[in-house]
This record gives sequence, C-alpha cells and structure tokens, in this order.
Amino acid sequence: MTIEEHVALECPYCRDTIHRPLSWFKQPYFTCPACGGGLTENQFAPIVQDLEQAFEQTIDEMVQSKPACGCCKKNAE
Ligand SMILES: [Zn+2]
Repeated sequence: MTIEEHVALECPYCRDTIHRPLSWFKQPYFTCPACGGGLTENQFAPIVQDLEQAFEQTIDEMVQSKPACGCCKKNAE
C-alpha cells in the first residue's frame, strides 16, 4: 500500500501553494506548476519527513482503534 496523500506546500520562489501527492515532492527534480521554478526533494525534505511521520501516526491510530461501526464513527479532526 502506497501513501498518496495530497499535500499543499508552498513554493519557495513564487509562494504559491502546490497541491500534489506527497510522493511528488520526493522526486530528485521537479518544477513548480505555477512559476516553473526548479525544485529538488532536498528543499522539501524536512517538511516531507514531518508529514510522513504524521501520516504514519494516523495510519497506526486507524489500525489500532477499529470502530465497531465503520460507517458512522468517523472522527472529524
Ligand atoms: Zn512557484
């Protein structure tokens, strides 16, 4: 199972918000869809790591606390 969470990170050049799957920000080189500026994974590595940890914790919690009824126990967090 791969994590394809969409995240919104700020482009360091144009300050526009880039909405892309987390894995997109882990490419060695990519360009900002708004300004075309060249970006590398290193520029986002600290944020991506934080987000990945947060996602892992969320998944752990989902696995550990299985609600009795899967259709109506959704936590709006
Ligand atoms: Zn940009």
